[in-house]
Amino acid sequence: MRIALLAGDGIGPEITAEAVKILKAVVSQEIEFDEALIGGAAWKVTGSPLPEETLKLCKNSDAILFGSVGDPECDHLERALRPEQAILGLRKELDLFANLRPARLFPELQAESPLKENIVTGTDLMIVRELTGDVYFGTPRGQRKDDQNRREGFDTMRYNEDEVKRIARIGFETARSRSGNLCSIDKSNVLETSQLWRTVVLEIAQEYPDVELSHMYVDNAAMQLVRAPDQFDVIVTGNLFGDILSDLASACVGSIGLLPSASLNSEGKGLYEPIHGSAPDIAGLGKANPLATILSGAMMLRYSLKREADADRIEKAVSTALEKGARTADLGGKMTTSEMGNAVLAALN
Ligand code: ATP
Ligand code: MG
Repeated sequence: MRIALLAGDGIGPEITAEAVKILKAVVSQEIEFDEALIGGAAWKVTGSPLPEETLKLCKNSDAILFGSVGDPECDHLERALRPEQAILGLRKELDLFANLRPARLFPELQAESPLKENIVTGTDLMIVRELTGDVYFGTPRGQRKDDQNRREGFDTMRYNEDEVKRIARIGFETARSRSGNLCSIDKSNVLETSQLWRTVVLEIAQEYPDVELSHMYVDNAAMQLVRAPDQFDVIVTGNLFGDILSDLASACVGSIGLLPSASLNSEGKGLYEPIHGSAPDIAGLGKANPLATILSGAMMLRYSLKREADADRIEKAVSTALEKGARTADLGGKMTTSEMGNAVLAALN
């Protein structure tokens, strides 16, 4: 198995080093990492944030482990050269349309959740967000003057049925692999796009009679995620609603340094990355929490490499390390990035 390793900028190199350490310990011989430049680090060497060589390596790999991009030294650059364009470019080039973001509250950290009073049985949910359509990409879009000469901005919310079908199937498959409950979130009382969304999701539901499907309007979902997050297991939703709800869910369960993600295409190729950015304020200080990246590595084993048992092993080791009190600064502790990595390593069994 060949993994493209894109450490990127800021804390990227520190946190990916810990994830590689854990992955090598778990799957040893059968996994090889090929490093490539991306983001500001790539721009400094090649003049491009997503060099052709990096893209080629990603296309020829079984999976991609990604740190983060973002470098204040690149703030002056034109948009196309900025580090953030690299990740957008990769998603587009590889057609990574399905974004999976688990939000799980580790019981050891419940006291620190802003929702601790509302969490009863333990929050453990998976948001499946569509990543390549919706109002972010729909045309026409732009700015112009209206008929009264006022400035006006406009975007187009748009989905075709194939785009909805493929993300719905990922939602149902994910639900099937967990508790068997899927909640589809839309705004079909107001939006045409959402009406199509709901119709198509209901059609695909015929293929999954074993999954219990429910629907919720996005405004209610936002309220319910705060009021009673435990009621959700798998959520499937569009790009815009998913963007907002997944940030909301992540804040409910604790530090940004804990949450992994997967972005998949229809061949099962995936890019795995922490949900946080490059944290330039703590880069190079050994303060970054590597758990989000380590857990992204576990997702890689599960989804792209089909090594469920190894993924479980890593996730259990993270729980055990937290149970034993391992804490980086973001969790109120004193451990360095590599000490946290070592705590997970020691907890592997
Ligand atoms: P970018 O533009 O790269 O996304 P950002 O400033 O928008 O950067 P983050 O990089 O996610 O967003 O950082 C937000 C805050 O969270 C910062 O204070 C950062 O130090 C902190 N942070 C992010 N990731 C981690 C981590 N793994 N461990 C500890 N703190 C983190
Ligand atoms: Mg950011």
